[in-house]
Amino acid sequence: MKIAVIGGGISGLSIAYNLALRNAGEIHVYEKKWITYGSSTRSGARFRVHFWREENSKFAIESIKRLEKLSTKMEWNPVIYRGGYLWLITKENIVEQFRDANKMWSRLGVPGIFLDQREVKERYPYIMVDDILSAFYGPQNGSYHHDYVCFGYYSLAKSLGVHFHEMTTVDELIVSENKVKYVKTDKGEVDVDIVVLATGAWTNTLLEKLRISLPTEPLRREVCLTEPYHYFIEPLIIDTESSAYFGQTLKGEILGSVDYPTPRGLIDLDVRFKVISAWARAISKRVPLLKNSRIMRTWAGYYMMSLDESHIMGRDPEWPEGLYVAFGYSGHGFMMAPLVGELLAENIITGRVDELMKPFLPTRFKENKLIKEKMVIG
Ligand SMILES: Cc1cc2nc3c(=O)[nH]c(=O)nc-3n(C[C@H](O)[C@H](O)[C@H](O)COP(=O)(O)OP(=O)(O)OC[C@H]3O[C@@H](n4cnc5c(N)ncnc54)[C@H](O)[C@@H]3O)c2cc1C
Repeated sequence: MKIAVIGGGISGLSIAYNLALRNAGEIHVYEKKWITYGSSTRSGARFRVHFWREENSKFAIESIKRLEKLSTKMEWNPVIYRGGYLWLITKENIVEQFRDANKMWSRLGVPGIFLDQREVKERYPYIMVDDILSAFYGPQNGSYHHDYVCFGYYSLAKSLGVHFHEMTTVDELIVSENKVKYVKTDKGEVDVDIVVLATGAWTNTLLEKLRISLPTEPLRREVCLTEPYHYFIEPLIIDTESSAYFGQTLKGEILGSVDYPTPRGLIDLDVRFKVISAWARAISKRVPLLKNSRIMRTWAGYYMMSLDESHIMGRDPEWPEGLYVAFGYSGHGFMMAPLVGELLAENIITGRVDELMKPFLPTRFKENKLIKEKMVIG
């Protein structure tokens, strides 16, 4: 079996590795620029198990287990660290939402801890707590190094015989008798049995040529990074009042962003001063110590938003035979990709759809079985 995985981000790398591990056949990864060019190394590099929807929490719990297990095999140390997530809450209805969800999270074995204003001040004396009603701390959540995870997968896949074709754009998929037959690249046509689109924000460009439409849209997100400081912020802090998030990298930089109105689509990956200043204002209000911190670097990447803010994986039986997708991660894809790779590889090889994968099939949109997530950070 000849398999083309299009896209050399965390999704394509995890899928290619898992296919090779299961001896699926001859596997080729096509990447229009270089491995990790897309969103995968423009991310905040955090993982969490706390989602509003049980389907997503369950998926993330298992995915992170896969990442931890694999890290022992990787040549690169993924620097997995559970510093926790801390949601600062200023409104009663949001406290209630967390209390309800914590019943589900407890059932799944990942309960969080509620802190009152005094406890927040005791544990995190640097936080300005005057308007805080409560906080939710999720100790199971944490961070990793996105470059090292990607290159860990890459070198494992390469050692298993996966062929990588960087600087090779796939322009079109050629279908005949309702089956994918070729991928047309800027370097020529290649015959295939299976094609997996792991093309992130660019996926619709290829799907549209097949007249396939899934409700997804790229959304540019901008990130800021300060110079490094002595390590003092352990969790990722999500300020639900300002919608800013920030945390400290193990190197000491403060990394984060703020939800800021942005037109959707494949717009330029520019960074706006107004976003940087909105984030700087929000975090220095919450942590006055950060008032004079210096922003050293900013960058942008795309969240590929799906209609219900949950990822899309697998295929629709009405599509040409051999076509699969893994995208629409809506800002939380890096953490989901280890399990996406495993379950999609099994699905391609055996046809079996795992219970954890079932809710995320592309058919859910026409069947109106949405997994309305809404807990999108940033
Ligand atoms: C600012 C920001 C912060 C984030 N923070 C987090 C976080 O903390 N935790 C988390 O889990 N997720 C986070 N995410 C989301 C996460 O980065 C993405 O969900 C994930 O990286 C998606 O991986 P991917 O492999 O699907 O896509 P990508 O990494 O975008 O890879 C797709 C690749 O496909 C290639 N490609 C596209 N079209 C073609 C073509 N026609 N031919 C050949 N190659 C093609 C692209 O060049 C690209 O390299 C964040 C994203 C952003 C932008």
